Amino acid sequence: MKKMIQKSLLSLSVFAVGASFAHQATEWGVHDAARPQPPIVTPGETDNSPPSDAVVLFDGTDLSEWKSCNDGGEAKWKLKNGYMEIVPGSGDIHTRQLFGSCQIHIEWSIIEGLKEEGQDGGNSGVFLMERYELQVLDSYDNATFPDGQAGAIYGQSPPQVNVCKKPGQWQSYDIIFHAPVFEGENVIKAATITVFQNGVLIQDNWEIWGATYLPPPVPYVAHAAKMPFRLQEHHHAMRYRNIWIRPLED
Ligand code: MG
Repeated sequence: MKKMIQKSLLSLSVFAVGASFAHQATEWGVHDAARPQPPIVTPGETDNSPPSDAVVLFDGTDLSEWKSCNDGGEAKWKLKNGYMEIVPGSGDIHTRQLFGSCQIHIEWSIIEGLKEEGQDGGNSGVFLMERYELQVLDSYDNATFPDGQAGAIYGQSPPQVNVCKKPGQWQSYDIIFHAPVFEGENVIKAATITVFQNGVLIQDNWEIWGATYLPPPVPYVAHAAKMPFRLQEHHHAMRYRNIWIRPLED
C-alpha cells in the first residue's frame, strides 16, 4: 500500500512538472508539411572553412574588412603568409561591417619563443560588440588569474577546461553570441555566449554581466543593436587567421 501511494505521488509530481513546462511557442503543428523548409547552406570544404552564408572577415589575403580603432584608417597590423600579425602599439582593429547576434569562427596562434608571463603572454582579445571580451592569451603552461586566461569571459567566467595548445600551433574559437536587448536605457535580456576552443566546449551559454572592463561587474550601458567586431592590440605580437561570421536572427 505504502509503495502504491509513493508511486502515485511520483506520477503526480511528474505530471505537475510536465504541466508547468512551457515549450517555445510555434504556429506550426507537429510534422506540418506547410512549414517552410530551412534555407539551404553549402558547407565549407572543411568544418573550419566558411559556409556559403558566412561573411568572410579574413581569408589571409587582405585586411580590407578591417580598420584601425585609433584613427579609423587602414588596419595597421601586418599581413603575412595567410595570417595577420599584431604590430604592438598600432591599436585595436575592428570590422567595417556591423554585427549583433552571430556565430564566429576565428583561429589564433601565440608566437613561439616569446618569453612572457601571465597576462603578458601574447595577450589579445576577441571583443563582441566592442565591449564583451573573450580573452586570447598564451595559457599553455602559463598560469594567471583564471577569469583572465585564454577562453575566459574577461573578469567574469573562466573557461570550463584549459584546452590550450602550445605556442606556435594554431587554435580555434567557435562562438555563438546573442546580443543583449535594451528597452530605452535598461537591459531586458543579457547577452549570452557559448564558446568551443579547439572543438571543446569551454563557455556554456554564459550570461554576460555587462562590459568586461575593469573592475567588473560593469553594468550594461545601452548600445546599438549592431556594432563592429573588434580584435585587441594589448602591446603584444600574436597572430590571427581564417575569420568568418554568420549573423543570427534572434
Ligand atoms: Mg585581452
